[in-house]
Amino acid sequence: MQLGLIGYYSDFVVYPLVIAILGIAGLIEAGEESAPEWIGMVIFCLGLWTLIEYVLHRFVLHHIPYIRDLHDRHHVEERSSVGTPTWLSLGVHALVAFLPVWMAFGFATASAVSCGLMLGYLWYISVHHMIHHWHPRHPSYLYTLKRRHAVHHHIDDTANFGVTSIFWDRVFGTAQL
Ligand SMILES: [Zn+2]
Ligand SMILES: [Zn+2]
Repeated sequence: MQLGLIGYYSDFVVYPLVIAILGIAGLIEAGEESAPEWIGMVIFCLGLWTLIEYVLHRFVLHHIPYIRDLHDRHHVEERSSVGTPTWLSLGVHALVAFLPVWMAFGFATASAVSCGLMLGYLWYISVHHMIHHWHPRHPSYLYTLKRRHAVHHHIDDTANFGVTSIFWDRVFGTAQL
């Protein structure tokens, strides 16, 4: 969706707040003894996010009608503030991840899963913003990501679906350097 300035940047305020509150509440609920497992689950879900990022970009953003049109616009007008509103990404996350895990495994697990996934999402939108708006020096991690993402935008949109890492593109054979 075309977002206003506040809409575009609200993710960067709302997500850290939600992650911090959920993190504190989750750790209190888990208690000292279960804290290591809680943190382990956060790290596991952070890694899981990179796969979700790949799958969403490859199969949802490039194939689902309407969403595909919006994403095509991002491919062309890469610096415009086309994006997903915070209320929508948070709502989908709550319905698909947080609430079902809470129902099945309790609040402590759900808070860990959500913190991990939301940290991954925050990292992804931050990297994606920097890729399109910053001029990273060469060579650097960010420069490599920027070049790979530019290949996806302008040369081959069937390659380089991962934004924060090349790992899943390598696994699924869609990496193009
Ligand atoms: Zn794309
Ligand atoms: Zn992009």
